[in-house]
Amino acid sequence: MVLKNIIQEAYHKVNSIDDKGQLASYIPELVNVDSESFGVYISTIDHVNFGIGNCHDKFSIQSIAKVLSLSLAYSILGEKIWSRLGVEPSGTAFNSLVQLEVDNGIPRNPFINAGAIVISDILLSHLKNPKDDFLAFVRTISNNSELNYSTKIATSEKAVGYRNIALCNFIKSFNNIENDPSEVLDFYFDLCSLEMSCKELTEVFLFLANNGYNNNDNSTIVTKSQSKRINALMQTCGFYDESGEFAFKVGLPGKSGVGGGIIAIHPNQYVIAVWSPKLNKKGNSYKGMRFLEEFTTKSELSIF
Ligand code: GLN
Repeated sequence: MVLKNIIQEAYHKVNSIDDKGQLASYIPELVNVDSESFGVYISTIDHVNFGIGNCHDKFSIQSIAKVLSLSLAYSILGEKIWSRLGVEPSGTAFNSLVQLEVDNGIPRNPFINAGAIVISDILLSHLKNPKDDFLAFVRTISNNSELNYSTKIATSEKAVGYRNIALCNFIKSFNNIENDPSEVLDFYFDLCSLEMSCKELTEVFLFLANNGYNNNDNSTIVTKSQSKRINALMQTCGFYDESGEFAFKVGLPGKSGVGGGIIAIHPNQYVIAVWSPKLNKKGNSYKGMRFLEEFTTKSELSIF
């Protein structure tokens, strides 16, 4: 069956199920969304593109941005980056504090909040204008100058970001944050507030299906080895304490965000983005997970 038909079939099947998820209300502004939205978009490295449902609607990509901040920091620092954080799945929630004390302020991986906060600190130390430079990086890799942060979302999260504030200060107490915690957090909240549609997400992430090269002009975004390693981290840590389940049911490197988006990558083949805002108990899109499971099962296009 052709890809388009498989996506259509899986979309309609999953769209008709009872969505057991809940919106992420701990960031007040995230509730102002049509909770029934459901979009899917696929882009292959051979330039086949197909979308369905709300695939052109912009949404808050939240933690999906952590892959992009890691990519930029990794391309600047190389392997030195791993002296500041680990590469192990945490087995805990995305905003958990519990392991940091025994691990002496070294976050388990770059995709839990603690790790992404350390990456934000690294970027703050290495970029002249972190907020502008990071946005320029995301715009350049996708050749899309319309991508932007949402001030509304960032402000909303800043106002109630108590856990992230606690995480950042706690890590600072172990000397693993160089900059002023409030500046680190401002930047972290800004990058989580990036908005994109499923189509735009696939365009941004295509380099990770293409060994680190820009699929449009072949420029290097990250090295081939870095691309492999970022994919490995997405496979093992992209869904927090549901990463095993995602590998088991979907079988692709991927990353979720509390805005209800998921990006998944089949190296050397395609990138697929799904958006459905209601989340399961682990903070991952309920329908998004179900759709991707259906898609890789029917298409037999998982990495395993
Ligand atoms: N900005 C969100 C937070 O820090 C990101 C969490 C997520 O998407 N899992 O809580």
